[in-house]
Amino acid sequence: MAGKAVAESVRTTLGPRGMDKMLVDSGGEVVITNDGATILNEMDIEHPAAQMIVEVAETQEEEVGDGTTTAGVIAGNLLGEAEDLIEQDVHATTIVEGYHEAAEIALDAIDEQISEAAVDDEVLKQVAESSMTGKGTGGLTAESLAETVVEAVRHVESDEGVARENVTVHTQIGASSNATELVPGIVIDEEPAHDGMPTEIEDASIAVLDVELGVRTGDVDAEYAIDSIDQLNAAIDAEESEVQGYAETVAESGADVVVTTEDVDDRVSTFLANEGILVFENVGSSDTADILSATGATRVGALDDLEEADFGKADRIRTANFGDDDLAFVEGGAAAEAVTVFVRGGTEHIVDELERAIGDALDVAATALASGEVVPGAGATEIAIANKIREEAAGIEGRKQLAVTAFADALDVVPRTLAANTGQDPIDALVDLRAAHDSEGRAGLITDGEDVTIDDPLEFGVVDPADVKREAIESATEAATMIVRIDDVIAAE
Ligand code: ADP
Ligand code: MG
Repeated sequence: MAGKAVAESVRTTLGPRGMDKMLVDSGGEVVITNDGATILNEMDIEHPAAQMIVEVAETQEEEVGDGTTTAGVIAGNLLGEAEDLIEQDVHATTIVEGYHEAAEIALDAIDEQISEAAVDDEVLKQVAESSMTGKGTGGLTAESLAETVVEAVRHVESDEGVARENVTVHTQIGASSNATELVPGIVIDEEPAHDGMPTEIEDASIAVLDVELGVRTGDVDAEYAIDSIDQLNAAIDAEESEVQGYAETVAESGADVVVTTEDVDDRVSTFLANEGILVFENVGSSDTADILSATGATRVGALDDLEEADFGKADRIRTANFGDDDLAFVEGGAAAEAVTVFVRGGTEHIVDELERAIGDALDVAATALASGEVVPGAGATEIAIANKIREEAAGIEGRKQLAVTAFADALDVVPRTLAANTGQDPIDALVDLRAAHDSEGRAGLITDGEDVTIDDPLEFGVVDPADVKREAIESATEAATMIVRIDDVIAAE
């Protein structure tokens, strides 16, 4: 019951006409999303069995990045069907066997559904767009975002595969919402240490330091007593020359961008600003790590050790101001494998959801590009799977046949839900879809703007990666069969 209830809670978010959920925590913090994994994650769920459905979505998210609602809803329906079977005195182990057998048939059916067409840029765009349609992407259309997504995954593609981890999404609140940009490098939340510093440097040599560029101060409060103005002047001069020394060492090193994890004295930054050097101070560890990997710089712990060999390279470093935020763009250079999808959206909630939607789209495009396997979306693959399972169920003996057929019935939840979420009658849609599948071979419930039609999803560009479907079947089956085997929940120490 608990597992079913949790799966049910995300059902209305499925597909292009799926609705969003507003999650409010006890502190009033609000998250608005359409993403199954996020909803289930944010939900305050205590029941251990329900928690397992959350894990289905989490696994799905980790493995393939999309299809979390689908996986959760299928798992919930497998449980619902199992409940009916148990009421009909089918033993849990028979259900488990039947479900496993049906899952095998399902995986074969997915293989049969793989599109013959090569996965080119057009197909990648369709995959990315299908995963974003219906998401709250603000004023940005899924279509325009999809183009950037495809460009990004192409950028990180090599003989070794698709390095999805080299693509990051950076969102920025405010400004015009229809601005998406692919930055050939990284974007970090850092501002120049001094207003007089250059905002753009081409062909940059970057020094990355763990050095405080200022007068050494201890953790203890130190005082020194002076009894003449000469002594005070001498102290000030000593300080000045220390600071001057830092500034000169840095300026003479030949670096034109300096990144340090520590403080930079105002006098040092003024001097460096005059020298035309761009400095970022107090840079956090994750930004520092990103800079190191994007530029190929080596971190230096003492100013005396600074030499050109440690410098990183970038084609261009620029800084820009967006309202309250300052950003630095580090583009191209030594190890310029990284790309950043830079998007702007109106409000915090919009950029958060944009980030999730683009993240999913990057995942599916990368998955489809890596495997070269896509299947029709819009429920067509589920209809085909259920059909194949029913056909093969006829040859299975005994009560297990009931479990195998129940698995097919559970899969119908995907097209049924897509229909319900577009305001159609789910039963009529299912009947029509099956008929179209029998006569045409491929039939999905396609949402195209205001229209809903039953047709071949491949022709309408509604496609999902085969791996997303496989993972959904596997993780939903695993969770459902695990729960079905349990007859009691016992409090433990
Ligand atoms: P999930 O978390 O499972 O990815 P989504 O809300 O993203 O949930 O919905 C995914 C489903 O929507 C897939 O089955 C996909 O094929 C389907 N879909 C995507 N675009 C369309 C469309 N234009 N018409 C019909 N179905 C679509
Ligand atoms: Mg999706």
